[in-house]
Amino acid sequence: MDINPALSRKRARHFEHASAHLLPELVHRLAWPRQNIERQQLAALRALLHHASQHSPWHRERLRGIDPNSATLADLARVPPMTKRDLMENWDGIVTVEEATLAGARAALQGMTDQQYMWEDTVLVTSGGTTGQPGVFLYDWNGLGTYWSALCRSIVPTLMRRVSNPREVRKAAIGAGMSGHISYVIGRIFSDPQKPGLQLSSWNSTAELIEPLNQCDPQLLSCYPSLIPTLAAAARAGQLRIAPDIIFFGSEHLSDSNRQLAQATWPRADLFDCWGTGEGGLAFPCPYGKNFHLSEDLCVVEPVDEHGAPVGPGQPSDGIYLTNLFNRALPIIRYHIDDIFELNPHTCACGSAFQSVDRVRGRTAEKFSYGQLVVHPHAIELGLVEQAAIVEYQIHQTRAGVRIMLRTEGEVDFARAEERVRLALRGFGLEQPEVELAVVDAIDRTAAGKLRRFIPLEA
Ligand SMILES: [Zn+2]
Repeated sequence: MDINPALSRKRARHFEHASAHLLPELVHRLAWPRQNIERQQLAALRALLHHASQHSPWHRERLRGIDPNSATLADLARVPPMTKRDLMENWDGIVTVEEATLAGARAALQGMTDQQYMWEDTVLVTSGGTTGQPGVFLYDWNGLGTYWSALCRSIVPTLMRRVSNPREVRKAAIGAGMSGHISYVIGRIFSDPQKPGLQLSSWNSTAELIEPLNQCDPQLLSCYPSLIPTLAAAARAGQLRIAPDIIFFGSEHLSDSNRQLAQATWPRADLFDCWGTGEGGLAFPCPYGKNFHLSEDLCVVEPVDEHGAPVGPGQPSDGIYLTNLFNRALPIIRYHIDDIFELNPHTCACGSAFQSVDRVRGRTAEKFSYGQLVVHPHAIELGLVEQAAIVEYQIHQTRAGVRIMLRTEGEVDFARAEERVRLALRGFGLEQPEVELAVVDAIDRTAAGKLRRFIPLEA
């Protein structure tokens, strides 16, 4: 990939800022007692409410009657929740960056060939989410640095123990291909220029992944959990010869069977599973168990039932309201996400004072199986969410490929969408995938009003 020198220097500055200033502070907080976490969360919430009511006309209206200087966490419940639809329909009134507009963001995404910086050094991130309606998010310089640092902080203690110099560690990440997906964006920016990590696309075929992985021999491997069966099979066949110290999972639910398979294949590796969303929801893995800890210094997560009423610890929620406390560019306050959360009522045995989460479920896409081949539809949707004129989509598996229903508003580059979907399918080994795009007026929703994004072929 062509690297523009000014862009490389800017990314290097961004990486340096995050790794030298933001990351050490976030690592330090891991040992905080409960009162420090709560103090930080409250201070960050007040600062966010102040910022949003000053700079975001849309939020100002919603925050009427709340004094940011004296607001408490309980006052947050008085703020009406927001949905992805609210965000997308009111984007220009929500964004707090001078000159930033959704039209400008969409134009930039449509022509994107690599990560780029936008207004005032902000960065665009796109997400499919579970509703099938693409979201466009804008992160400021500190906000994106904090996001990356929050993902990294849980592995730092292990890295320090297992590797003599963490800055010398050999890293490889298999994630989203070129797109606005946050895993791709942070991989492009937060890579030590002195010791760049290997960044591979999960759209690549196994054969294309193995050689570079063998050459890199990563000590730290990041990947989607759904890649584990393929990588483990290559390791068993003697083709993949890596021995990672740490395997870091993200973006998808890590099933027990994939966790066991990864551990059996690489017995020396420490496994880390995190929860992160493009909107800024963040949880880090418990070092002792399979549970998570909520990054309460950086976000507020309110588990709720289908009517928006709070759900207490020990009960699975229907969704959550997320408040992102660290990104100012596009304030996210009580934003509905349909991930299922179950908070643990007890303090975790590991000693962490951060809220323990027993389960986070959702974002578990159905797989498409074509004989022996398994295709992960998340890879397919990346070719769609980059085009903002595609407002909703549903991907149906067919015998030899996919049929995609699209609801559009504005100009869609169908050739590009089709080509990217075809590429994604080929990446999983489908030789001559059939791709059909169909524009429809409406896409059927479930009884609960949800849109199923992925429809596998009936067995
Ligand atoms: Zn714990």
